[in-house]
Amino acid sequence: MNTVLVLGGAGYVGSHVCKALAARGDTPVVFDNLSSGHAHAVKWGPLVRGDIRSSSDLDCAFAKYRPDGVMHFAANIEVGEGEKEPLRFWENNVGGVITLLGAMARAGVKPLVFSSTCAVYGEPNLVPITETETCKPVSVYGRTKRAVEILLTDLARIGEIRYAALRYFNAAGASPNGEIGEEHDPETHLIPNALKAAASVGGKMKLFGTDYDTRDGTCIRDYVHVMDLADAHLAALDKLMAGEREIIANLGTGHGASVLEVLQAVERVTGLKTPYDVRPRRDGDAAVLTADLEHARRVLDFKPKMSDIDSIIVDAWRFHKKTWGISR
Ligand code: UDP
Repeated sequence: MNTVLVLGGAGYVGSHVCKALAARGDTPVVFDNLSSGHAHAVKWGPLVRGDIRSSSDLDCAFAKYRPDGVMHFAANIEVGEGEKEPLRFWENNVGGVITLLGAMARAGVKPLVFSSTCAVYGEPNLVPITETETCKPVSVYGRTKRAVEILLTDLARIGEIRYAALRYFNAAGASPNGEIGEEHDPETHLIPNALKAAASVGGKMKLFGTDYDTRDGTCIRDYVHVMDLADAHLAALDKLMAGEREIIANLGTGHGASVLEVLQAVERVTGLKTPYDVRPRRDGDAAVLTADLEHARRVLDFKPKMSDIDSIIVDAWRFHKKTWGISR
């Protein structure tokens, strides 16, 4: 049984990982400044309100809870915001990790599971994307995540830490019992936005681009259920605890759905059509981003179990209906 300090554990992926940790008997200690996370999503262990950029906040948490390992989710993730405020992203996403690594060194804790992203690849040369693809991130967000990966490699080389960088494709869905789910503000992601428009909570959805070189002209993404992602974090932590020094793995499903296919799945699941307006392409959107899963299968025994698109939408819909007060 491990005690795990979960930075950003009040957020979307972090809270689902906490649930999975607790389900197998580990203790997640959430450290979060609640700038975008939610106290009501912290249900499986203590919540420390603190800032990842504060050495003293971190030192206090390490001294009080003596964690065996660390997981990091405490980052700014909204790609458009990063383009407008790069310094804020670099301070939090990179500066925050540097401060965290100092605290880990002082506390003598080595295992770190870091949430990275397929945005580190930018426009890939080949899809599905393998981990050997060149990293050429095209957003501030992707560059901050890539910078941390490089830093972690340097520290792992001299034995300062043992780390896993998990490159998520499109995290989606919610806890199947509806108790936690995706609650971003502003919400920019496709599935919650499609459900919102379908449920007439807000206006029409904006569909960004129908002129891509794909089967129906809309972008193709690899949607992976957040509970499958959570399982991969547990597997990565176990490997690090057992002495593995470095894991870099894509987490997706290996196949993609187009924006229009997601809207068809929304209609199958909810019985509702998503009203939408076609808009121009969104800056920085690649046509197709899907994961090659071979490496994650090998190193983490990763097998998505809940990630077919209809199951993802069933779980997302159950959660959103509750939060939007929809009874049907
Ligand atoms: N998308 C869209 N309308 C929205 C949100 C997203 O058309 O309101 C499209 C977006 O352009 C991309 C896909 O849906 O092609 C997935 O976008 P999302 O923001 O969910 O994830 P990303 O792949 O950008 O991380």
